[in-house]
Amino acid sequence: MIPTHTDVLIVGAGPTGLLLAGDLAAAGVRCTVLERRTEESNPTRAFGVHARTLEQLDARGLASDVIATGGPVGSVWLFGNTKVDLTLLPTRLPYLLITPQYEVERALARRATACGAEIVSGAEVVDVRQDPDGANVQARTADGVVTWRAAYAVGADGLHSTVRRCLGLPFPGHSVIESMMLADVRLTEAPDSVITVNAVEQCFAFVAPYGDGWYRIFAWDRGNERPDTDPVDFAEVRDVTARALGTDLGMHDPRWLSRFHSDERQVRSYRVGRVFLAGDAAHVHSPAGAQGMNTGLQDAANLSWKLAAAVQGWASDGLLDSYHAERHPVGRMVMRTSGAIIRLVMIRPVQRTARNLVGGTALRVGPIARRAAGTISGVGIEYPGGDHAHAPAGKRAEDILLAGDGRRPARLYELLPRGSVRAARTRVGNTGRGHPRRPARRRAVDRPGPRRHPRRAARHGHPGPPRRLHRLGHRRHRAPNTSTTRSAPRSPDGAAPRPGTLPPHQRRNR
Ligand SMILES: Cc1cc2nc3c(=O)[nH]c(=O)nc-3n(C[C@H](O)[C@H](O)[C@H](O)COP(=O)(O)OP(=O)(O)OC[C@H]3O[C@@H](n4cnc5c(N)ncnc54)[C@H](O)[C@@H]3O)c2cc1C
Repeated sequence: MIPTHTDVLIVGAGPTGLLLAGDLAAAGVRCTVLERRTEESNPTRAFGVHARTLEQLDARGLASDVIATGGPVGSVWLFGNTKVDLTLLPTRLPYLLITPQYEVERALARRATACGAEIVSGAEVVDVRQDPDGANVQARTADGVVTWRAAYAVGADGLHSTVRRCLGLPFPGHSVIESMMLADVRLTEAPDSVITVNAVEQCFAFVAPYGDGWYRIFAWDRGNERPDTDPVDFAEVRDVTARALGTDLGMHDPRWLSRFHSDERQVRSYRVGRVFLAGDAAHVHSPAGAQGMNTGLQDAANLSWKLAAAVQGWASDGLLDSYHAERHPVGRMVMRTSGAIIRLVMIRPVQRTARNLVGGTALRVGPIARRAAGTISGVGIEYPGGDHAHAPAGKRAEDILLAGDGRRPARLYELLPRGSVRAARTRVGNTGRGHPRRPARRRAVDRPGPRRHPRRAARHGHPGPPRRLHRLGHRRHRAPNTSTTRSAPRSPDGAAPRPGTLPPHQRRNR
């Protein structure tokens, strides 16, 4: 059978695979996504989009659409009265957006398709093999077993990843929560706050709105842990919630009831030759802190431009390896933080007073509070720059406004069509000394929430949210030689490239 050819074959059309596909297609790389589902994934699992992910979506022109589907919360509850204040974040989107995972997936799927990615549904991958020049991916489809041939393959196929199994990679770790009940319900009594959460004696309950009249409930009873396969009794969800919150909020009409356990697991290597793992296929952790989908999306943003560079022939040797080097430690850190949060949430009642005292006091100390907000939101994540790197290398670049074409502000991504630094320098006003003229810096001071956008938009004299950009580097970070026709290394994950990851023609200029 003649294989179907593509440049990058992605397994799984979850959030991770869809973001990756959109980025690759936008960069002009042929990519195919194989998805075993034939229908949209619903009901939702994730319902929180963190600030760093919102920035990533913003850089792709998707943030406004996604923000319009949800509501912002300015803090993330940890336990007791202890919260992480997200309004401290140095970003113009300093909040957690509560929206169903399927809204994020819809926006990403629309973009991927519009950019030219091919998404094949009803294709279940059953085998992945590689050789020095590429990978063969076999999938069961309605037309029988079909083989795709690609230069690179990515397993974004979730917790039970077939790609991971085909690579023979173990997924070491253990379970952290047993028998958490989940219910998507309607409520007769709307809660006072966006997120309602409490733990009393043996019981814990959490309530968050989807924004469309439906609510997500998590309820857990230490005294009644059962296997995941045991059906959930809605009366038990109501009872545990009432014991934890003092009311069951009049919950009714459950559309989804489930019982789950949560694992902490991570593969040892995110890359095996020409095959990569991303998202839940590479790491899973407890839902505490709402970081799973966010981490997968950021994996995809880190990997996409590197794969595009490799396909287009200008990636340095270290560029593809830097995906594992940068993202594996982040996955490990997320696993540790979400694990620590869930253990503190589930702590025995006798230890709760001490926990609340220590946690509450620590998070009132400015630097600790800012660090916690940076960690949980992803805004504080940075990659090691290396011994001889410039100061901004590997760090999230600041979110600033550029002058654009003189009539309206613009983001760097708009000024870098196909990675052309020449265009950006011309359009923002090149000083002739290798640096774009610096625009006046504008800091985000608004309160969180989508309602600020119309006001701000009116100030800038155009509809929609203000246009901002991520500055890549600072004054000592010389602009690449624009006399070359090759593309500059664009890092849509917003981190300034590290020296070891630059292609040779870029390294000369540093
Ligand atoms: C109860 C719960 C609450 C959560 N809350 C949050 C939250 O608030 N915030 C957050 O960030 N994260 C949260 N998460 C985690 C989040 O849902 C996942 O991290 C996220 O879905 C991972 O995305 P992914 O694209 O890597 O994998 P998935 O979403 O699992 O997508 C994988 C895709 O691959 C497809 N697939 C699988 N095998 C094959 C195959 N062999 N061939 C073809 N296709 C295949 C699947 O059908 C699926 O569409 C939560 C998880 C749970 C369980």
